[in-house]
Amino acid sequence: MEAKPLTIAIDGFSSTGKSTLARQVAAALGYRYVDSGAMYRGVAWYGLERGSIGSDRVVDTARIIADLDDIHLDFETMPEGGSRLHVNGVCAEPAIRSMRVSEVVSQVSSITEVRRKLVEQQQRMGRDGGVVMDGRDIGTVVFPQAELKIYMTADPEVRARRRYDELRAKGEPVRFEEILDNLNTRDRQDLERLDSPLLKAADAIELDNTFLSPDEQFDWVMERVRGLNRG
Ligand code: C5P
Repeated sequence: MEAKPLTIAIDGFSSTGKSTLARQVAAALGYRYVDSGAMYRGVAWYGLERGSIGSDRVVDTARIIADLDDIHLDFETMPEGGSRLHVNGVCAEPAIRSMRVSEVVSQVSSITEVRRKLVEQQQRMGRDGGVVMDGRDIGTVVFPQAELKIYMTADPEVRARRRYDELRAKGEPVRFEEILDNLNTRDRQDLERLDSPLLKAADAIELDNTFLSPDEQFDWVMERVRGLNRG
């Protein structure tokens, strides 16, 4: 009998390269890749566009909650294995990756009603296994039964440098200090929120990639997958 496909949860701090790793692992195994952070970003982007989040970054929580039923999130799978988020049928990339969204997304993700809606959708997407999902609460809340859980960390300056290079390459006129500040603020908000804070699951394996290349960390994970006799 063929083994049931695995559920792989990749959690950790902002800009540790979770999505790059998750995408690579999913492609190698022929699994679905889900970027759960994109979904929180999608709700934040919708709020900014609708004015329930002001340019002063003040979030009108009641309006965000009231609008939740009107927000439909879908992923378009790209031929090279990546995916693009659509919000109500409109492609929200690259807008959801901008600093404007990064600056408010952790406030939005701390709203319990938002989490409830997105976690339900994430669980539906991974119901049959064969999924690699990255985020903050995948191994603790979304898929506590996942067969493989990775918890990623890296030095904050190294993470900020990677993010800075990425946004600069896309032409966004960001400053390094602004990025570092945003990462530290988001990490703090994600760690301290009451509902599903960023937390290493008891059975997660920690991966500090400060000194690892993307290829090295990919090999590191695939070795663990093989250890489960499925790779
Ligand atoms: O992964 P990414 O940095 O794109 O996620 C954006 C934000 O979404 C995080 O800072 C966090 O506040 C929120 N998030 C979350 N739970 C997840 C994934 C992301 O709260 N599973």
